[in-house]
Amino acid sequence: MKLCKIHILTFVAILLLIPVAHGWGVDGHLITCRIAQARLSKAAADAVSQLLPAYADNDLGSLCSWADRVKFRYHWSSALHYIDTPDNLCTYQYNRDCKDEDGILDRCVAGAINNYTNQLLTYGDDNSASQYNLTEALLFLSHYIGDIHQPLHVGFTSDRGGNTIDVHWYTRKAVLHHVWDDNIIETAEERFYDSNVDELINTLQKNITTVWANQAKAWEACSKTACPDVYASEGIKAACDWAYKGVGEGSVLEDDYFLSRYPVVNMRLAQGGVRLAATFNRIFG
Ligand SMILES: [Zn+2]
Repeated sequence: MKLCKIHILTFVAILLLIPVAHGWGVDGHLITCRIAQARLSKAAADAVSQLLPAYADNDLGSLCSWADRVKFRYHWSSALHYIDTPDNLCTYQYNRDCKDEDGILDRCVAGAINNYTNQLLTYGDDNSASQYNLTEALLFLSHYIGDIHQPLHVGFTSDRGGNTIDVHWYTRKAVLHHVWDDNIIETAEERFYDSNVDELINTLQKNITTVWANQAKAWEACSKTACPDVYASEGIKAACDWAYKGVGEGSVLEDDYFLSRYPVVNMRLAQGGVRLAATFNRIFG
C-alpha cells in the first residue's frame, strides 16, 4: 500500500515536470505586443496606457509574458494558453475542442480571448471597476492573442502540442513545441539580426506596410469584436503543414527545417501583432 502511494507520488511528480504548452517565448510575445502597440488608434492607445501599471512605462511589450509568469499563482489560467485538437485531424471546432482536461467548455485560449475581450468592453462603464481587474484582462488578452498564433498552440492532444516530441535543434536537445516557442526565433535573430530583437521587429513592421499591406487588411477583418476561431483554425493547419510535417521522435532539425519554417513564424508573429491591435481598436473604439 505504501509502495503504491510512493508510485502515485512519483507519477504526479513526473507529470508536474512535463513542460506545459505555453506559446511563444519571451521574444515572440515581445514582438507581437510591440507591433500591436504601434498600430493602436488614439482611443485604444489611451486606454492601454491607462490600464498598464505605472512601472511598465507605457510599454505593453514589457508585460506581454506576464501571463506565463503568473501560471503558478493563478493555477486556473494554465489551461488557457492553448487548445488540444484531435490527433491528425488538422481541424479545429470551438464546441468540440475548446475545453480543458476535465472537459470544462470555454477553458482554452480561444475561450479566454472571448472572455477577456468581453471584460475589456466594460472599460469606461461607470460601475465596472469593482467587477473585473481590467489591467489583468489587458495583459491576458495581449498574451493569448500571441499564443493562439503559435501553430503548436493549437496542436494534437496526445503529444500535447509537440511537448512530448523529442528532437534535436541542430546539435542541442529540444522538444518540438519549444522549437516553435523559442528556437526558430532565436536562431533567426542570431543569424539575420545580430541577435537584436528590435531589428527583427523593424523588419516585420516594414513588411506589414509593404509586401504584406494587402494581406494585413484581411488579417484585421473580423465580423465580431474578437475572432479567435479564425486564428485557431489557421493555427492547426500551420501545425500540420509546417510544424509536425516530416518530424518524428528523435528528428534532427537543422537548416532545411529552419529556413522553410522561419517565414511561417515571421508571418504568424506579424499576424498576431496586427490582430491584437485591431482587436484593441475594436474594443476601445
Ligand atoms: Zn502563453
